[in-house]
Amino acid sequence: MRVYADHAATTKLHKGVLEAMIPVLEEDYGNPSSVHRLGQEAAGILSMAREQIAISLGCTPRELTFTGGGTEADLQAILSGTRAGAAQGRRHVITTAFEHHAVLKPMQKLRREGFDVTFLPVPEDGILQPLEVEKAIRPDTCFVSVMLANNEIGTIQPIREIAEICRSRQILFHTDAVQAVGHIPVDLKELGVDYLSASAHKFGGPKGIGFLYTRQGAFLSSVMEGGEQERGKRAGTENVPGAVGMAKALEISTEHLAEGQKYVSGLRDRLAKGLLQIPGTRINGSMAEGRRVPGNVNVTISGVEAATMLILLDSKGICASAGAACMAGATEPSHVLAAIGLSPEDVSSSLRFSLGADNTEEEVDYIIDVVREQTARLRR
Ligand SMILES: *Cc1c(COP(=O)(O)O)cnc(C)c1O
Repeated sequence: MRVYADHAATTKLHKGVLEAMIPVLEEDYGNPSSVHRLGQEAAGILSMAREQIAISLGCTPRELTFTGGGTEADLQAILSGTRAGAAQGRRHVITTAFEHHAVLKPMQKLRREGFDVTFLPVPEDGILQPLEVEKAIRPDTCFVSVMLANNEIGTIQPIREIAEICRSRQILFHTDAVQAVGHIPVDLKELGVDYLSASAHKFGGPKGIGFLYTRQGAFLSSVMEGGEQERGKRAGTENVPGAVGMAKALEISTEHLAEGQKYVSGLRDRLAKGLLQIPGTRINGSMAEGRRVPGNVNVTISGVEAATMLILLDSKGICASAGAACMAGATEPSHVLAAIGLSPEDVSSSLRFSLGADNTEEEVDYIIDVVREQTARLRR
């Protein structure tokens, strides 16, 4: 059996996405900046994709900038918010210790460049309390970044409340929603954030395309220098087929959101329950209703080296991960699990399974059987 349980790393294209992209690649291949008809057709297709995404998220098309993915969108938000702050002499920034590296690394760089960055600790349940953000705010705080859903433990943060605190203090607020968009409802009118980043390949779209939402009126600076694409905010010829694929993937995800959430979280609960029946296991991050993305199970199996387990799982056809995909091969232990207080031994004994709508109960039961079997073997 082959079981793909690594949807948090990337997803395969939803059915219908490739079909939507092919005519754009084959026929409507013009450059949207060209004045001839082929170019203008491509420009029209691009703006349709933007409109479609805007409608599904509750924002205006002008508030969306297409980027080369989640990493770039995060960087652009961080540079924009902190440049706006620095221009007013405010150089204090708040984020959390369990952000994705796409946020953590730029934050560490800002710190080296003279910003004061607070990395808030995260409680054991993996949910940051808004009060902690409020307490960390200083008169010179200009920017706050807290992820919507964590990529390793799947916990959902109280973004609306945090955004409200920031808004009342005139502090720009960004959320990395890469693990949330297409998986749980994301309504920009309700969230009240200034910036939000997303990435198509995490919700059934193609790789190498994402977007940054920037609330009308919030400062946006460009990361790329060059042409005047994306209203001068993102130089480089637009990825038209990518944008079309992303819009289609979001449309499909949104259409099936409620049933998908119900189905996938059912699989997740079944997997968590099965794994917990193996002695010496625990689930990391809150399992409370509505506090976790549908597909995520992060489990610690005491006495078992996760790296070894992953190889054994792979030999049985199961794709899972330990921590973030981008850390694969690296020896660096998960900063997320460390942030929520796991001991170094527990960190190195933790696995992430991330399920999607294409998984089945049979596959989940197979994962449980294989993990049980291999755990017994490794502990012997
Ligand atoms: C995958 C991921 C990113 C990076 O997105 P890319 O499109 O792969 O660059 C950023 N943040 C989170 C939370 C992610 O899961």
